[in-house]
Amino acid sequence: APGILAGKRGLIMGVANNRSIAWGIAQAARNHGAELAFTYQGDALKKRVEPLAKELDAAVVGHCDVTDAASIDAVFDEVKKLWGSLDFVVHCIAFSDKDELTGRYVETTEGNFTKSLLISCYSFTAVAQRAEKLMTDGGSLLTLTYYGAEKWMPHYNVMGVAKAALEASVRYLAADLGPKNIRVNAISAGPIKTLAASGIGDFRYILKWNEYNSPLRRTVTTEEVGETAAYLVSDMSRGMTGEILHVDAGYHVVGMKNPEAPDL
Ligand code: NAD
Repeated sequence: APGILAGKRGLIMGVANNRSIAWGIAQAARNHGAELAFTYQGDALKKRVEPLAKELDAAVVGHCDVTDAASIDAVFDEVKKLWGSLDFVVHCIAFSDKDELTGRYVETTEGNFTKSLLISCYSFTAVAQRAEKLMTDGGSLLTLTYYGAEKWMPHYNVMGVAKAALEASVRYLAADLGPKNIRVNAISAGPIKTLAASGIGDFRYILKWNEYNSPLRRTVTTEEVGETAAYLVSDMSRGMTGEILHVDAGYHVVGMKNPEAPDL
C-alpha cells in the first residue's frame, strides 16, 4: 500500500547527526513514502549529513545558516530547481550560547537574547516566507518546541522565551497561510539526548525526572517524534493547523512529582 506521504516532497532542516530529531523525522517521512531534501549548517556537518541523506535517497540542497538570509534563499532556490514546488518543511533548528543555558535567566545578555531568538524563532518565519512561494498546492510547515515555553524549567532560560515566541509564531503563521491551505504546526517533544540538548545544564537530571514522572514512565525517542511528524506533514492531519502537539510521554499533564518516583 502507498504510504501516507507517497508523492510528497519535503525539505528537512536541522540534521546534525544520527541522534538529531530531524533525522528521526526524516526516517519516518521516508518510510511513509516521502521524497526528501536536506540542508546542513557548515562544512563540518556536510560530511555527516551527506551519508545520512544517501541512506534515504535524499537530495542535499546545500549549506544553510539561518543567520545568513542569502543562504536560506540559496537552498530554497535549489529546491525550486530540483522539484519546482514543495509539500512540507521540517524546521529543527535552535541555538543559544551554552553559558546562558545554566544559572539564572535574569543574567541573559542582549547579544545572546537576540541571537537565540533569531536562530530559534525568527528563522521559522524566514523559512515560511520562502516556503509559501513554493507551496503552490498547499503544504505543511513543522517546527520543534519544548515544554519550557509554557512553564519554567531549570537551565532552559532564554531558550524557553525563544520557544514561547516560536509557539506564538506558529499561530500567527497558521492564520496568515491558512487561506493558501498551508498548515503550520509544532511538536513539543520531551527531552531527548541530542547534540543541542547536551548544551543544557544538568540535562541528565531532566531526562531522569521525566522518566520517573511522566505518565508513560519513560522518555520519548526520535523515532516516536518522527512518526508524529509524518502524520503532521501528511494529509491525515489536514484539518489541523496552529497546533502544538506534545510528544512527551504525557509529561505535560502532570502537576506534581510522582510519589512513587525515587529521589534524584
Ligand atoms: P541537534 O543538535 O541534533 O539539532 C539542532 C540543529 O540546529 C543542528 O542541526 C544545527 O546545525 C542547527 N542549527 C543551529 N544553529 C543554526 C543556524 N544558525 N543555522 C542553521 N542551523 C542551525 O538537536 P535536536 O535536539 O535534534 O534539536 C532540534 C530541535 O528540536 C531544536 O529546535 C530543539 O530546540 C528541539 N527540541 C529538542 C528537544 C531535546 O530534548 N533534544 C526537546 C524539544 C525540542
